Amino acid sequence: MNITIRKSKIATLKSFDNLFIEMSEKYCNQKCKHCYIDFPEFKKVQDFIEKEIIENALSELKDTDIKYIYLTGAEPMTHPDFNAILRLCLKKADVCICTNGSFINEKKARFLKKVENESKNEIFFRISLDHYDEIKNDEVRYRGAYRQAIFAIKHLIKYDFTPFIIVTNFYKEKNEVLKKEICKLFWEYNIKPSQILINNYFDKNSVINDETITTKEWNRLDCEYGRILTSKGIYACPFLSGDYRGRCGSNFKDFAHKIPIETNYCSTCINNTLEMFSVNFENMN
Ligand code: SF4
Repeated sequence: MNITIRKSKIATLKSFDNLFIEMSEKYCNQKCKHCYIDFPEFKKVQDFIEKEIIENALSELKDTDIKYIYLTGAEPMTHPDFNAILRLCLKKADVCICTNGSFINEKKARFLKKVENESKNEIFFRISLDHYDEIKNDEVRYRGAYRQAIFAIKHLIKYDFTPFIIVTNFYKEKNEVLKKEICKLFWEYNIKPSQILINNYFDKNSVINDETITTKEWNRLDCEYGRILTSKGIYACPFLSGDYRGRCGSNFKDFAHKIPIETNYCSTCINNTLEMFSVNFENMN
């Protein structure tokens, strides 16, 4: 019998720039077709991370020069202690809120600017918008998601924030066309093309393509520049939170700096060649 053994590639943490915090594992007010999270079909699970877990993690990381903290989810702004956690994180680093934008209106944007002004660090945003056409966007995300995202982005700009627009190219259109048409939606707000970050869509349920993982090269991966803190421990990246293949340890006193690149999600990252969740400011112009 012939047994083929494939050796996984290994990604090493090169620099701990990004700390992702999973505010909730499965609680979201939208249900996007391309989401990497497996949502419960009929029940809403309110599984928020405790503030004390974040406080302990930040104290373990007090000597680590984290550059950015990303509040992720499911939807991070549903967390009941969201404001307190935001203030806590701003003491350590700049904070990026990764959101669908549905909780941001004028009052919230004004409040967030006040919170930012009280801190030495900045708040920025990753807002999801998947298409320039309302019907196509809402078909992927949620009815009303398009208007909510645009409303949020406009109010954030009004209060002098920098929103990054995160597009999952679900319909497999040309990236340049998507970028150009989304820029047009905000023509009076001077959104730069570099603020629009496009990820190629890859079906998480499709059969893994071993060839991709074993032969393709990548430029930068999230697991090379950070880790995610969840209520269950530390994982390599948001894709692999809760997945034993991405487990790195239970706390930041001692955690894995190397991770085998072996999952369908890794295949998505490698196909994109770049990080999927963090913003690489070196690439901005
Ligand atoms: S899913 Fe991507 S970022 Fe996560 S471990 Fe795999 S290659 Fe790294």
